[in-house]
Amino acid sequence: MTSLTRRDALRLITAPIGLAALGASPLEIVRGASAHPASRLKVLVAGGHPDDPESGCGGTIARYVAAGHDVVALYLTRGEAGIPGKSHDESAKIRTAESEHACAILGATPRFAGQVDGDTHVDATAYAAMRELLDRERPDVVFTHWPVDTHPDHRAMSLLIYDAWMRLGRSAALGWFEVLTGEQTEVFAPTDYVDITAFAQKKRDACFAHASQKPEEWYPVHERMGRFRGMQHGCEVAEAFIRHDKGPPLPLPG
Ligand SMILES: [Zn+2]
Repeated sequence: MTSLTRRDALRLITAPIGLAALGASPLEIVRGASAHPASRLKVLVAGGHPDDPESGCGGTIARYVAAGHDVVALYLTRGEAGIPGKSHDESAKIRTAESEHACAILGATPRFAGQVDGDTHVDATAYAAMRELLDRERPDVVFTHWPVDTHPDHRAMSLLIYDAWMRLGRSAALGWFEVLTGEQTEVFAPTDYVDITAFAQKKRDACFAHASQKPEEWYPVHERMGRFRGMQHGCEVAEAFIRHDKGPPLPLPG
């Protein structure tokens, strides 16, 4: 990128005046983005554990990548406490490798924020670290857990991201995703949907890359969620989001 930054491009491709002048819909502009490097977006998807970005928006990640955008999957922890009978170090090693495999399937880049599974903290130090991380990554679009969630690590990531997004001037679009709704995410009333029908298998494969988490036990819940969100949206399978309306418009891929 030279004279036009990605953030400028995001504003350009989503600005109502620009769209009216171009006579095109936001979707058409985003789809056309891959042909124009200036409109290539950087999307950051932040989850508490390995498998959260994939289960919350794996289909949407795959759609962004297919449209030519860059996606980073940011994991707050390496799932250190997530394999019974294994030490934290052993689990972290296994789950890091699973995350890398899942990201390779989706075409995303994995990043780890350095906290420990089951022992996450939200304090001044953690806020500062997330602010630095986001400032370094400079995403155009950020997704994270909806904060009303039964898992403390999910709540931690959600709060850390929200704080960093706000303090960095709300210059990225912000959206929240859901995971295991009813069991983890609660009171989630979507504002936006992405049709992931064509990417449902890829999402499934990425979630099944987390073999240590026995996805055969929990992925069926996400399959039901996807079909239900699809019914709401008018397609076969969808992922649902809540957008924040005080940043740039959320440029969803569809
Ligand atoms: Zn999780």
